[in-house]
Amino acid sequence: MTYRPTLRAHVHVEGDQLVDGLLQRRYPLEGAAAALAPVLDGIAEWSTIRSTLVASGHIDEDVDAALRRLLLLHAVEGAGDQLVAKLGRVVRREEAVPTSILDGARFGCQGSGACCQGYAFGPLTDDDVAGLDALDLATAFPHVEPPYVEANDGGRYLRRTGVRCVFLGDDQRCGLHARFGADAKPSFCRLYPLDSFGTIEGIRVVDRGSCATFAISSRVGLPLVDDLDRVRPLLNPPLLHHPLALVDGWAWDYGLFLRFTTAATTLIRRNLGTASETLHAIGRCLDALTVATARCPLEPGQPDAIVSAVLAIADASWYRAPRDEAAARGARTLGTLLRAFGRALTAAIDEGRAGASSARLGELAVLIDHTAGALATHGGRATAAAVPAAEIDQALRISLRQQLFGRHVLVGGHAGAGLVRIGVIQLLALAGARIDAGDRIDAVDLNRGHMLATRGFYSGILDDVLVAHEPSWRELLDGLSLATRLPYLDAESRD
Ligand code: SF4
Repeated sequence: MTYRPTLRAHVHVEGDQLVDGLLQRRYPLEGAAAALAPVLDGIAEWSTIRSTLVASGHIDEDVDAALRRLLLLHAVEGAGDQLVAKLGRVVRREEAVPTSILDGARFGCQGSGACCQGYAFGPLTDDDVAGLDALDLATAFPHVEPPYVEANDGGRYLRRTGVRCVFLGDDQRCGLHARFGADAKPSFCRLYPLDSFGTIEGIRVVDRGSCATFAISSRVGLPLVDDLDRVRPLLNPPLLHHPLALVDGWAWDYGLFLRFTTAATTLIRRNLGTASETLHAIGRCLDALTVATARCPLEPGQPDAIVSAVLAIADASWYRAPRDEAAARGARTLGTLLRAFGRALTAAIDEGRAGASSARLGELAVLIDHTAGALATHGGRATAAAVPAAEIDQALRISLRQQLFGRHVLVGGHAGAGLVRIGVIQLLALAGARIDAGDRIDAVDLNRGHMLATRGFYSGILDDVLVAHEPSWRELLDGLSLATRLPYLDAESRD
């Protein structure tokens, strides 16, 4: 087949950068890619371009890799045509995308009041502030001294008393809600813990997982589909979230990455293994995609065709436990990672970077320290799987789906680090449960660890540590598959 690759009309080269005029982004061009991109004019044949670049001193593998990098960015015609066409329609507002939620997603507030403590409550919108100004707060809250709103870091926030919102009552209920009704609350309170963001597949509305009663609220709460009429007006005009996804140093267009996460969330629904086994299986799938795309044929229709072929592999074949020695090695690397998390949290708290979350992050640091200690004691031994109770596994499976569907699936753009973060959240939820409740844990016992871990990890304070360990993501997933199975967090790990 004659292949005459050409850059897309909205992509051009400026100096040593590739400029994407559709997304208003620039990518650095280095080595063979810098020589290749300017000559992709749709006239010269690929074989001629390749031999010319090799003759000028470039290594043939580097020239092939340079074209693959452009294909994975969907910068060349014939690569991701349908996705790019849709992206263009969405960016130009020629096509509206629907609201998109996970099948079966639920949320129901259990009234713990924990989400009204230990946070920065805002930023408030102009409408939020105007709404508060219109209320007779002085009469309703005679014990609360105004002001009710304070400026901080360029935004406006509800004032706190200690770690608590000034409107949180002693009964752990919202005073604004109790006295004036649900609509009197600022919009972020009415939306919490839901997050929303725009993708080319839809405006995603997803539980961010940081509710203090997650294992209940996400399993028995109101079906999200039945709450959408209330939720939709609260969604900010969603900006299109379309970052690059980085996998082993390769940059993928986000549309390509969405194909992987959609396959992953579908796999979770098939109940072929535990939540932990399924995360490991998803890691195997990402690994296979990475290997396949890094070698994809250089022809029109790639890398889409190779991605389709990998995703068509039978789901059950991704479930293969790591060998004992690989799991034990991974567990040791995981211990190193946990220690690094602990140091990063302590530093953030000591240096005042944790802000309103410092108490929660301090609790998280203690939980991580216990987990790392127990892992060091027991983690080198691969033992028979301790199969979690069905309700525990269901809660962890929901958490896994939500995180893969959510905005924070990548860490600093990195996909492998994102999977590790999800696995560590699973581990800390289980570890917290075993520390609090011993060997006979229920789903509700997951709540504390899950809440602390999601709050801590989504604060961004641990992102640098995760990114620094990104090269070990496969090994860490092997270690997590062991660590989440070990019955090691027993009484001896407790204070
Ligand atoms: S206004 Fe109500 S819901 Fe919002 S943080 Fe304060 S107590 Fe919680």
